Amino acid sequence: MSFDNLGLSASLLKAVKAQGYDKASPIQAKGIPPILQGKDIMAAAQTGTGKTAAFTLPLLQNLAKGKPAKSNHVRALVLTPTRELAAQVEESVVNYGKHMNLRSTVVFGGVKINPQMMRLRKGCDVLVATPGRLLDLFNQNAIKFKDLEVLVLDEADRMLDMGFIHDIKKIIALLPKQRQNLLFSATFSPEIRRLAQGIVSKPVEISVSPPNAAANTVKQWLCPVDKKRKPALLAHLIKEHNWQQVLVFSRTKHGANKLTQFLLDNDIKSAAIHGNKSQGARTKALANFKRGAVQVLVATDIAARGIDISDLPYVVNFDLPNVPEDYVHRIGRTGRAGANGLAVSLVAADEITLLRDIEKLINKELDRKLIDGFEPVHDLPPSMFGMKQPRVKKPQPQGRGGGRGRSNNSGKGGNGGNGDSKGKRPPRRRKPKPKNTSA
Ligand code: AMP
Repeated sequence: MSFDNLGLSASLLKAVKAQGYDKASPIQAKGIPPILQGKDIMAAAQTGTGKTAAFTLPLLQNLAKGKPAKSNHVRALVLTPTRELAAQVEESVVNYGKHMNLRSTVVFGGVKINPQMMRLRKGCDVLVATPGRLLDLFNQNAIKFKDLEVLVLDEADRMLDMGFIHDIKKIIALLPKQRQNLLFSATFSPEIRRLAQGIVSKPVEISVSPPNAAANTVKQWLCPVDKKRKPALLAHLIKEHNWQQVLVFSRTKHGANKLTQFLLDNDIKSAAIHGNKSQGARTKALANFKRGAVQVLVATDIAARGIDISDLPYVVNFDLPNVPEDYVHRIGRTGRAGANGLAVSLVAADEITLLRDIEKLINKELDRKLIDGFEPVHDLPPSMFGMKQPRVKKPQPQGRGGGRGRSNNSGKGGNGGNGDSKGKRPPRRRKPKPKNTSA
């Protein structure tokens, strides 16, 4: 859909054109009109759908109609789970609002608070913030919410995953009751719906792309491999295919450091980003990666959250994530806005339960590629995907609902808020073996 018919002002359309966008993405087409009308919305949209512009454009237009923010006051608050995402959202606010007379700023932890206090003094039409630093600033009287008109919760699911629920509740208690609320989340788990109940009022619900479906411009496959051989396989794949700009996901900070060192030892320019790195080191690693000076960025899920690099071509899951929804988030780093991407997962036998949960969530079986010289000694058990679940309502003979819930892996089947661990039935053709061959 063209941007011209969404009710946006000429100055916003000009900024959108300057970004090179021809058409509004589905979340923009569905979200912009109700937001312009002042309605609350709840939108299920993952990163890469254009959700930032979907809320930023109408937000700026609505704010332009009112009076500028008074000293230390904030008119619109955008809460994000990570510093990186906060910085990127603010960058969008600046880009889209460049022909408008609105003031915006971003605040997050890990950097000095004083400069942020100074900036807030002038007042702020749009403030993008991570929850902890926002509360610190409020407690130091640097922010006043009396005139707050709009609250945006970006990546609400991630905020809950990261344990921000108490901070969010505290923040909401500080805001005027009368306000517009825009809630964005990759998924609508029961937990998110519970949170939303206390925030949005009569929201317009918007969902783009089937829930949890991975962007279909992303090619996905996996390599079965023994755990110990993963680093060598990764180095081999990168060299063999001459992959540039590879974002590699590691489940742990320690694992990210170790892998980065291994790649460096193998002459592959790499850097790690994770929560133990200073903000300066993270920003530098990201900048080097963006400009091609670093070929491989090894990141933990939290650090990678919200990294927006246009046309990121390769994502590698060095470890499968514990929560299947994270797989969708991870591969959402690539194949954005129609660009082609490749997501490759290195999967060891003991990750079979995690793999099955992912395949169930994305509703497809990942192609398996054995790489010469890296065939695993511990075979990756078969995927259960596509084994039809019987529809019969009759009680099951052994009454062992929960099947895969008996995972012997740390990532429990059916968690992540799907709330569907009940009622799973054994597949028709073969009963699931409660014991995997996992180590
Ligand atoms: P987001 O989902 O907000 O993280 O946006 C993902 C990427 O899509 C960003 O790099 C945006 O610049 C880009 N983008 C947003 N809207 C559009 C659009 N209408 N057409 C093309 N690209 C877009």
